[in-house]
Amino acid sequence: MVSWERGHFYLEKPEAVSEATPTAPQKAEAVFASDQTGEAMIAFFDLDLKRLAQGASDCTWPRPSCCGRCGHDKVWGHGLVLTIFEGLAKAVRLRRYRCPACGCIIRLRPKGYFSRHQSAVAVIRATVTTRLGTGHWPKDCATSRARHWLRALNRHAQAVLGVPALTDLIGAFDRLIALGRVPVSRAI
Ligand SMILES: [Zn+2]
Repeated sequence: MVSWERGHFYLEKPEAVSEATPTAPQKAEAVFASDQTGEAMIAFFDLDLKRLAQGASDCTWPRPSCCGRCGHDKVWGHGLVLTIFEGLAKAVRLRRYRCPACGCIIRLRPKGYFSRHQSAVAVIRATVTTRLGTGHWPKDCATSRARHWLRALNRHAQAVLGVPALTDLIGAFDRLIALGRVPVSRAI
């Protein structure tokens, strides 16, 4: 996944972005999160992934109203990044921005997905819930990935919430999200 994200992108000159065109990004309030590398910020917006996967050319990209790192009030278009999502046959091009003040790269991300995870939060939660409740993985899930989610959730729950949280891992999943954490990430 990393090679996809790092290896396939299209650079676009900032001046190519015009507020006057129908596809110009619309300024919007974003929910930001730092990506796990600390090199970029993720801006979460409502994005129609299915339409984007079909190559919709009339997509209006939301534009963060400010930089998520330094608060500068203008960010420039910085190309598109191909990103893979579970359940979609094709990778989706997602808009990227750059802050001219601090140089921070800001990636758009659909709400309902964690940074750097291809599966929706709801899918991850439902998969882990099934495993904990029945002892089996759902039929159609990729079990190697799902095992990673459960192991990571165990680690996060214990490290952040303490050993008692291990008795209610789904509760821990929700509490960790409320704390702004990704409960199934590799890094704690
Ligand atoms: Zn900035």
